[in-house]
Amino acid sequence: MMYHSTRDNNCKVTDAQAIAQGLAPDGGLFVPDSLPTLSLEEIQALAKLDYRGRAAAIMHKFLPSFSKEELDGFVSRAYGKNYDHDAIAPLRFTDDNTAYLELWHGPTCAFKDMALQMLPLLLTASLKKIGEQRQVCILVATSGDTGKAALEGFRDVEGTSIIVFFPRDGVSDIQKLQMTTQAGKNVLVSSVVGNFDDAQTGVKKIFSDKDFAEKLSAKGYFLSSANSINWGRLLPQVAYYVSAYCDFVNAGKLELGQPLDFCVPTGNFGNILAGWYAKQMGLPVGQFLCASNANNVLTDFLTTGTYDRNRPFHATISPSMDILVSSNLERLLCAKGGESAVSQWMAQLNQEGKYTVSEEVKASIQADFQAGFCDDEATKAEIQRVFQKFGYLIDTHTAVASKVLGDKRAQGQVRPTVVVSTASPYKFAVDVLDALGVQDPKDPLAELSAASSTTIPAPLAGLAEREVRFRGCVEKTEMQALVDQFLA
Ligand SMILES: *Cc1c(COP(=O)(O)O)cnc(C)c1O
Repeated sequence: MMYHSTRDNNCKVTDAQAIAQGLAPDGGLFVPDSLPTLSLEEIQALAKLDYRGRAAAIMHKFLPSFSKEELDGFVSRAYGKNYDHDAIAPLRFTDDNTAYLELWHGPTCAFKDMALQMLPLLLTASLKKIGEQRQVCILVATSGDTGKAALEGFRDVEGTSIIVFFPRDGVSDIQKLQMTTQAGKNVLVSSVVGNFDDAQTGVKKIFSDKDFAEKLSAKGYFLSSANSINWGRLLPQVAYYVSAYCDFVNAGKLELGQPLDFCVPTGNFGNILAGWYAKQMGLPVGQFLCASNANNVLTDFLTTGTYDRNRPFHATISPSMDILVSSNLERLLCAKGGESAVSQWMAQLNQEGKYTVSEEVKASIQADFQAGFCDDEATKAEIQRVFQKFGYLIDTHTAVASKVLGDKRAQGQVRPTVVVSTASPYKFAVDVLDALGVQDPKDPLAELSAASSTTIPAPLAGLAEREVRFRGCVEKTEMQALVDQFLA
């Protein structure tokens, strides 16, 4: 099975090349030429396996250059004792028709662990398979969750190093402590004067500096990114949709073959797109419900067929969904409209900040996706409602999806649905407490634990006692020198 660029069907690579390169040379994303299939008999067999068995089987269908034994080894490392729940991605039912898929039992308490505990294993193996001799240095600009999850994934992984830049003004105290106390010999963390845009612009500048790339190459290094455009980050996510379906059936609340809906809190469109690939393979999914916060560019696109990023940016209490350009949407557009149409739309997005798809493409997308959004007030009210009604605590991102599903149900659409739960409520403790009526907490984690009678996840509980290893802060103009120095 080969992969090609979303902007050019003739730009072909192997699975290992797609993962090693990350982005196609023409700026497109890599997608499989054709999708493997998944029959009901196979789903029935997967339902008898644990999460690791399910994940290895799904990934094996997409990665012909990797043996099943190799992938079995990867899943036991990526989804093992580093998770605080044996099921890895458990379903929590609130009624017979509704379950929350908890994807935050990993080392950083957000769903990005599901992919970033696996990506380093896939990437280092891919580099070996293509004969790459140089060491990879992962560069990340982060507004919070991705940086920490990438650090945990790559720390002490042989043949790699990782540098994370976060904006001095603009990450929460917990997120900052999570990063500055990071363990590992091959890691560097630094803040940057300014906001996320400054950090992001600085990293992009380093990536596009050809002279610098040659200088690093002479020293035996090359730079790569860990963001969700890499196929190796998307693929591990396909598995938990299949796994959730198996568990819904195992719970006796769905007949094998009966359709199940998924409601997904969405930013970059990576998570929900992985689910769509599972559906294309044959997983019985009814529809996907794409849930946004006040940055509702996807709601508008899925309703009207016009994607328009020319709009104000809102900083919300679900910051990991504060995104105006959802890069993974390009993969869906490629499947629905073809490579040459994608090239045109992306050029228009670049020049005018917007594009409109044809009526056929819009209808085809709407057959698979519905959309909705809610603001911060509604998000908080939903956290309180779910806690009071079910005694179940959800985070601000999950609450957006939960609320959007509630709106559809109020319109009479009642179908079995999984709400994809993307972060532990403790990661956004201050806003979750606010939703429960506790303002200005002195010790947010302890107070959330007391208010909800739940336990603080171990990776967050010990944070305050951990030694801060990285206190550095650089100007935007000094970032490149820091990379150079670290790789000396
Ligand atoms: C990254 C993130 C999202 C958005 O996921 P996408 O794949 O970008 O759509 C939602 N919730 C949380 C907690 C996240 O960290």
